[in-house]
Amino acid sequence: MSEIPYKIYLDEKEIPTAWYNMRADMKNKPAPLLNPGTHQPLTAQELGAVVCDELVKQELDNDNPFTEIPAEILNFYKMYRPSPIVRAYFLERALKTPAKIYYKFEGNNTSGSHKLNSAIAQAYYAKKQGLKGVTTETGAGQWGTALSMACSFFGLDCRVYMVKCSYEQKPFRREVMRTYGASVTPSPSDTTQVGRKILAEHPNTSGSLGCAISEAVEVAVNTEGYRYVLGSVLSQVLLHQSIIGLEAKAALDKYGIKPDIVIGCAGGGSNLGGLIAPFMGEKLRGEADYRIIAVEPASCPSFTRGKYAYDFCDTGMVCPLAKMYTLGSSFIPSANHAGGLRYHGMSSVLSQLYADKYMEARSVEQTSVFEAATTFARVEGTLPAPESSHAIKAAMDEAIKCRESGEAKTILFGLTGTGYFDLYAYQKFNDRQMSDYIPTDAELAESLSHLPKMD
Ligand SMILES: *Cc1c(COP(=O)(O)O)cnc(C)c1O
Repeated sequence: MSEIPYKIYLDEKEIPTAWYNMRADMKNKPAPLLNPGTHQPLTAQELGAVVCDELVKQELDNDNPFTEIPAEILNFYKMYRPSPIVRAYFLERALKTPAKIYYKFEGNNTSGSHKLNSAIAQAYYAKKQGLKGVTTETGAGQWGTALSMACSFFGLDCRVYMVKCSYEQKPFRREVMRTYGASVTPSPSDTTQVGRKILAEHPNTSGSLGCAISEAVEVAVNTEGYRYVLGSVLSQVLLHQSIIGLEAKAALDKYGIKPDIVIGCAGGGSNLGGLIAPFMGEKLRGEADYRIIAVEPASCPSFTRGKYAYDFCDTGMVCPLAKMYTLGSSFIPSANHAGGLRYHGMSSVLSQLYADKYMEARSVEQTSVFEAATTFARVEGTLPAPESSHAIKAAMDEAIKCRESGEAKTILFGLTGTGYFDLYAYQKFNDRQMSDYIPTDAELAESLSHLPKMD
């Protein structure tokens, strides 16, 4: 076997040409989206009023394992893919671990994260349907940036509702989006009914993803030629993100490397669902086994402390109900939480896989996440996004366990993005002004008490 290089690249011609859908191999399919009024499974027609037709098909497709990637999307992918797999030799040395650590790096595009993989797909299908534009929400800003890049590529109008605290803390994210031609509105805003209602009830709110989603959906359904697009959580987004895992597996296979542990951070579940897709496929089909670990913030612990139940996807309760691990749609992480991954719910595909014990989950506190991020930046060179650093922290913990047990396990984790726009959070950490806030049981019980009553 050839020596393992620092970076494993695929050739451009080896980029996978079809996305993989884990649902096709799941015995227990994820529970269907429900109409919030009737509690009946959402029909393609109902969903089609909100998202574009081809994406409706992908969202409802529990059976086809592969969807061919259209040539226009594949060509766009070629501008920044295949993304590298890096052997973290320097991190291994710093940790004095016998473990072999690899990371799949998705931050080498201007938007700085994996989100572009789905943004370009969603923009393409919207354009193909002849739409004028799309609306969306953005929290930390990566999704809005990715979508504005994708929309400018296809000449679509892009209207972004950006969580207010992020709009204020990350003015340069906003400027990147505007440079790519998007309009950016801080949420909650007085431009929508739901925004005005939330503002009336909570005049000082700093906003939340759930609230920005409600605003973006309201504008999409009331504006001719527009649809809503979402950067995570939905099954179609996991489908597009499977490019991460398919590339990773193809590259590792080239060198005969089989990971023992695959680790990803989990906000709504898209990068994790994408990274693990082909590995989980083998696991579901009984062909191989892997330990798969989802890592989430202790301040927003959907998997580890949430309830597996039908819930609203947004604060305004206009979206379909999804069965997922949730903290309740009114849950808003503490204002001192700096590291992204702040959505109250989780992908219904990953939720089912977690309920069926195909994967594990753990939560980590943000100061320990920034410590791991700092170590990683200093030895491996790349300044990681705070979100990605949750996976770094867990990978480091597993590598340290290997040092203690003497086992030379192979660890693969997803480095989803870079942290250049997160320097406000890094500043807080460097000034030792960052603290950990873990919600109490009583707080979670309160937000969970507002789950929709199912019959
Ligand atoms: C959005 C984002 C995440 C979390 O979202 P998922 O849908 O859970 O993947 C993680 N890392 C980065 C860099 C992000 O931008």
